Amino acid sequence: MNTTSAHGPTSHQPRHDGMESGHHSDPYLERRKPPEPSTCPDCQASFHQGRWSWETPPAGASSHRCPACERIRDGMPAGELTLSGAFLAAHADEVMRLVNNTDDRVRMEHPLERLIDTSGDPATGPVLLRFTGIHATHGLGKALVKAFGGSLEAPYPEPGAPMRAHWQRD
Ligand SMILES: [Zn+2]
Repeated sequence: MNTTSAHGPTSHQPRHDGMESGHHSDPYLERRKPPEPSTCPDCQASFHQGRWSWETPPAGASSHRCPACERIRDGMPAGELTLSGAFLAAHADEVMRLVNNTDDRVRMEHPLERLIDTSGDPATGPVLLRFTGIHATHGLGKALVKAFGGSLEAPYPEPGAPMRAHWQRD
């Protein structure tokens, strides 16, 4: 089978959006393409020139829910990160501040990479964080290790499956 043509009508070049190298297949990004320009009715992100951003959408933009908000509505996180260990209980405020600061920074730069929600009480037990993107999931795990040490397990999932990561420090 000859598939060397890069210019066929069905070929699709992955966008390079400044994320870590390697394109990870995400079914939510490969759904129908939004019309341009569009704005998401849930989060007000805008889609223009092939990418989602926080720029103000131009007047007359169509309404089209972004892939991150689709995941939130469907209850389908792209990644989950569990935090556990004695350090978490002893430093709950510091750890959760880093979680929130990292989320703010990542979502400003990458509108589709967000923390969805947090469950569990860091003072008493494990905390489960759910994300709309695997880069946010993995990135927060790495930020925790950098700030506090401990260990991170974050195996890359099968295409379409959520990442299940775990940060722990005793
Ligand atoms: Zn949205």
